[in-house]
Amino acid sequence: MRYLRNIELKDKRVFLRADFNEPIENGKLVDDFKIRASLETIEYLIKQKTKIILASHLGRPSGQVVEELRLNPIAERLSKLLDRPIKKLDDSVGPQVEEAVSQMKEGEIILLENIQFNPGEKEKSEEYIKALAKLADVFVLDAFGQSHRDYASISGLAKVLPSYAGLLLEKEIKNLKSILKNPQRPFTVVIGGAKISTKIKFIKRFLETSDDLILGGALANTVISAKGFAIGKSVSEEEMVEEVKRLNLTDTKLHIPVDVIVSVDSSGQAPAKIAPVGKTEEEEMILDIGPDTVSLFSKIINRSGTVIWNGPMGLFEIDKFAAGSKIVAEQIAKSSCFSVVGGGDSITLLNKLGLLGKINHISTGGGAMLSFLSGEKLPGIEALE
Ligand code: ADP
Ligand code: MG
Repeated sequence: MRYLRNIELKDKRVFLRADFNEPIENGKLVDDFKIRASLETIEYLIKQKTKIILASHLGRPSGQVVEELRLNPIAERLSKLLDRPIKKLDDSVGPQVEEAVSQMKEGEIILLENIQFNPGEKEKSEEYIKALAKLADVFVLDAFGQSHRDYASISGLAKVLPSYAGLLLEKEIKNLKSILKNPQRPFTVVIGGAKISTKIKFIKRFLETSDDLILGGALANTVISAKGFAIGKSVSEEEMVEEVKRLNLTDTKLHIPVDVIVSVDSSGQAPAKIAPVGKTEEEEMILDIGPDTVSLFSKIINRSGTVIWNGPMGLFEIDKFAAGSKIVAEQIAKSSCFSVVGGGDSITLLNKLGLLGKINHISTGGGAMLSFLSGEKLPGIEALE
């Protein structure tokens, strides 16, 4: 791995691929955790007297310009946090971008437009890689949360420019590598959240490498369904049931909810009640884990040497269905284990509870963190080897 600290950068144009993919509502930033996590590298590059060209994606624009996904609110917040002007451009490549870059002085910062407005980013097109590479002398990857993607600005640029891991990526790799190689046991993995389709390969892998694997949230609904229990109108991916059935669902290290909170209405208006798994009525939805499940999961967390957590245990955005996620978060925070948490919603929850400081490593990646810890090769990181 090539690291940023070891090179002479003065006067160089540095292309910094950061991860500023923050939640945005009505054009306003709802969180700035990832922007803050990027500051150390940016400040380092300012001190090294480089010209800094920042790039990130935001949301899922699918290769076209989406007005609400422009990076202007990111530029504004970043500028405030750095206490420096940032020149935000309206494109990521082309003559106007090249002109702006050619006029940069050392210590100056340009933020390119949302890199996924260009279809070449996800297609990893040669043409787009070339157009981006023209802008800089050096490539720095700091977007850990995107490092599992094989995209132009992630793994593509590293092939054509001298490239290095930024300070944030370096920290992520060092923290996660020690767990991958030698986790303090018992090693517990807690996975919740929405979709089992995006996480099933990690679940398979952790069934081999962990000591305890806890599943909650909507993705556990699909497992409950695969076990033959009714789940009513719960959020679930029925097309995944067959694949889930092929997991070893009777493995004693696999823990799924034994009771749940159900309601006929996910807005929180209708009454909610505790039900044993299997006793969900046709018109009900499973919206949180129940109290017996909370005690079971807490017990496992408390005897763990390492806990990895990604994804809430229920529809935590609604207070009525937040208790399971909250208690699990609190248990992880107060346990003496080495704790690692990643994923946008999980971090939002920890932040709300004021528990961010009680976690040993907060990862800026959800999918990337699970991918790394399950032993996969991440294209962005591979490209820097
Ligand atoms: P993260 O962002 O931490 O990686 P995910 O994006 O995978 O987590 O999943 C978070 C989403 O899953 C939240 O919006 C949460 O409301 C939703 N969710 C979790 N459990 C349920 C459930 N039982 N029913 C509906 N939605 C759920
Ligand atoms: Mg999420």
